[in-house]
Amino acid sequence: MSTRLVLASNNAKKAAEMQALLAPLGIEVIPQAVFGVDEAEEPHPSFVENALAKARHASAATGLPAVADDSGLCVEALGGAPGVISARFAGEPRSDARNNALLLEKLAHLAAPAQRRAYFYSAVVLVRHAEDPRPLIADGEWHGEILPAARGEGGFGYDPLFWLPELEQTAAELDAALKNTLSHRGAAMRHLLDRLAAHPL
Ligand code: IMP
Repeated sequence: MSTRLVLASNNAKKAAEMQALLAPLGIEVIPQAVFGVDEAEEPHPSFVENALAKARHASAATGLPAVADDSGLCVEALGGAPGVISARFAGEPRSDARNNALLLEKLAHLAAPAQRRAYFYSAVVLVRHAEDPRPLIADGEWHGEILPAARGEGGFGYDPLFWLPELEQTAAELDAALKNTLSHRGAAMRHLLDRLAAHPL
């Protein structure tokens, strides 16, 4: 079978993280935008269903195996919100700045770090073809707290608000390689690579 794999994300920063994580495979990883594939609909209530929908969409459009991540931030005090709607928490058009401002507003009444606990979650799905009856599925989590103000310039999304108490840094202050070592997406991708080693393309 082909040793090319389509990356089902048009989020350039997320795609760069995933390409770095897939690099050891020796597989050519091609962002779906190269084939002119649009972002899939993400109507489902769970991350894994949305990741599967994205992977099937990219594979159907290209005829190649595809890998997708669906991820988001789950805040304890908000009952797990924004969750699957993290990218469009503050509505369309999607804006990290407006999402972060809304999150700060919703947590403004909570001062103690323990009340501001949150975690990132990532579900990663790989399909060998669009109708694959047995997709490879993996997930990962990354726990931290939401700061009352942004810090750092790196990463994307909620990274400037995501505080790692043991490192005394936000996710946006980490270098890209360290973020991939620690992050929800890194953990999910490493599990996926293990699954892929057992079930090669
Ligand atoms: P998706 O592209 O539909 O999976 O949306 C993911 C959204 O979750 C992003 O737009 C961010 O808002 C948030 N998110 C996921 N992973 C991260 C991360 O590593 N750092 C910061 N925000 C993230």
